[in-house]
Amino acid sequence: MGTRFDLAIVGAGIVGLAHALAAARRGLRVVVVDRDPRACSASVQNFGFVTITGQEPGVTRERAMRSRDVWAEVAPEAGIAILQRGALVVSRRRESRELLAAFAAAPDGEGCEFYDAVHARRRWPMLATGLEGALLSPHELRVEPREALPKLAAWLAERHGVEFHWGLSAGMVEPGALVHAQGRIEADAIVVAAGAALRALAPALARRVNYRACRLQMMRTASQPPSFRLDHVLMSDLSLVRYGGFARMRPAKALRARLEAEVPSALAGGVNLIVAQGADGSLVVGDSHHYDEAIEPFASESVDALILDEMDAVLDVPRPGITEHWVGVYPVADVTPLLREALADRVMAVSVTSGTGMSTAFAIGEETVSGLFGPSA
Ligand SMILES: Cc1cc2nc3c(=O)[nH]c(=O)nc-3n(C[C@H](O)[C@H](O)[C@H](O)COP(=O)(O)OP(=O)(O)OC[C@H]3O[C@@H](n4cnc5c(N)ncnc54)[C@H](O)[C@@H]3O)c2cc1C
Repeated sequence: MGTRFDLAIVGAGIVGLAHALAAARRGLRVVVVDRDPRACSASVQNFGFVTITGQEPGVTRERAMRSRDVWAEVAPEAGIAILQRGALVVSRRRESRELLAAFAAAPDGEGCEFYDAVHARRRWPMLATGLEGALLSPHELRVEPREALPKLAAWLAERHGVEFHWGLSAGMVEPGALVHAQGRIEADAIVVAAGAALRALAPALARRVNYRACRLQMMRTASQPPSFRLDHVLMSDLSLVRYGGFARMRPAKALRARLEAEVPSALAGGVNLIVAQGADGSLVVGDSHHYDEAIEPFASESVDALILDEMDAVLDVPRPGITEHWVGVYPVADVTPLLREALADRVMAVSVTSGTGMSTAFAIGEETVSGLFGPSA
């Protein structure tokens, strides 16, 4: 390891890989270290849902649009399948119908179409009866993260010459070097993209920004019959009070009040129904949100039941068997949606603190690399 690199990155999650891509595209010499033998953290625990509609307007939405374009460029080159396109947000209540119709007519609703209940069920017969309508957004992409992340890393190594050191934990970062148990890696600049583990490398920063963990429960179902095909990722009323781009619409207040009266446990558990479908027909179903300083591994059966109840209410399919349960973790902080701060001269900590890293990381990587090495030509 005698080489001197232009950029050393701690963490091979999507944020680390996005910085590696932005730097390698400029011809810089890049090294990435990850303490795990392959990515196992938030970047493979998620839905792989690159979301635009519903993102907070302004910088987050702009980053999501740029990152979606980078996913679309990189996926075919790296052999990553795009499994679904677009989002279908289903309304169960009059208030959510009003919100979705208003969103479709607003500037951020550009390209989106609102369907009333009759037309929605005609187009998507698998939707449950009794729904009020649906919004179709064409902007999204979905990849299977547990396949996409290893493929992206392998492609960065082969196509762009990025050097990876797996199973190597950075113990300390300092100007010009990343220090690990067997020595040091010298680099002109360092990016710490350690996700929820940032606290260990930058404890003072973590304390100052109140860095903590959001824990999400996720499930995968048995394969659905070939006749059941979700072309778009599905969401429902509960998403409309969580996603900033929806929650800022005027009808959101009345929707929240109704949800508080009708489904207080789902709101308290931060349940936000997202249903995606894998190439094998299985469904990835989630999620919930619990916040704590420590990362507890325990998943609650009652929270899973709340998520599945919401799925039952929007999809006309028998409740499928569950083949996998997992708990995912992403960091949150008082600085949001992104924590990007210098830890020392040319040593940057970069952490997505809003659970939107799959949607925004490629743009974030380009911004950080421009900040460190100057605007690209
Ligand atoms: C259940 C769930 C669902 C989600 N759904 C979505 C979604 O649909 N769309 C979306 O946009 N976002 C979603 N997110 C958020 C998204 O997954 C995260 O924002 C993103 O993955 C963060 O990427 P990261 O690279 O910062 O962190 P991570 O993926 O956590 O990567 C950090 C890496 O750093 C490594 N590391 C840590 N410390 C060290 C060290 N000292 N030395 C070496 N390596 C180290 C770790 O091993 C890890 O591989 C979801 C998150 C979860 C948990």
